[in-house]
Amino acid sequence: MEDLSEILKKHGFAFKKKFGQNFIADRNLLEAIVRDAGVDKNTTVLEIGAGAGALTRAVSEAAGRVLSYEIDRTLAPVLAETLAGCDNTEVVFRDFMKEDMAKLEEELGPYVVCANLPYYVTTPVLLRFLEEAKLCRSVTVMVQEEVAERLCAREGTPEYGAITAAIALRGRAQTVRKVPRTMFYPRPNVDSAVVVVSFGGGVPVKSAAAYRFVVRAAFSGRRKTLENNLMNALHIGREEAHSLLTEAGVKDGVRGETLSPLAFARLADVLTEKGMPLGGQGGRS
Ligand code: SAM
Repeated sequence: MEDLSEILKKHGFAFKKKFGQNFIADRNLLEAIVRDAGVDKNTTVLEIGAGAGALTRAVSEAAGRVLSYEIDRTLAPVLAETLAGCDNTEVVFRDFMKEDMAKLEEELGPYVVCANLPYYVTTPVLLRFLEEAKLCRSVTVMVQEEVAERLCAREGTPEYGAITAAIALRGRAQTVRKVPRTMFYPRPNVDSAVVVVSFGGGVPVKSAAAYRFVVRAAFSGRRKTLENNLMNALHIGREEAHSLLTEAGVKDGVRGETLSPLAFARLADVLTEKGMPLGGQGGRS
């Protein structure tokens, strides 16, 4: 294949910053990401953001089937060239965030995600899989290094947040490789990392909706105590909030970000057992 920048130039492609377009072309890195994702000929792969098709092609060579979303239609002629002969691969020119996940999964069957994610929608894309996906086995994604730290953070650290707790409900995240900014074209201002989120074996909880409610409440005011955040979220008094926390084994005066995912699950179970109204904001269970 011709040099990627030559192909893009030939097709008069103009990079669009608003779509987070930083492409990778290094063959060794592409193959390493495909290995990180554990792709083989029996695997169906969903990619978000085909770009110029370099990762798509590497995945296509290893996988059984590839479905890739790309929001930018001006990449169509580029992809027609770079993905020529990739018969197991389909590119859909639509915004992934607007797709119906249930319909998509019905069509795909069990699958893994492998993507160099557009930075501006990294968290919303990940949350879609964490909250809506039923057939996703793993998500292997290139993200900004700072995001990778948040995805893999331990409780009590500044990086620990709602997305970390959301991952713990479905499985676990691990940073498997650091990727310097020099590997991208055009070059971004920050380094990146590849994170693998493996689904399965998440914290046990009676209601996923209650867990998400508790997590949202815990991180709604990071400087406030969990008791105060719970009072606001549930519209209850201090005494009642205190008694719920005591029942869940949470110490007095702690902040939400110090609680482990297991402790969030315990508190969520107390709310579920007591039938606390979650104000319709619990999300999908
Ligand atoms: N996979 C390519 C690579 O590794 O070189 C491109 C990665 S680039 C970081 C992200 C790609 O996602 C861009 O091509 C961008 O146009 C596309 N994109 C951005 N938002 C999207 C969305 N909501 N749905 C589908 N594709 C999107």
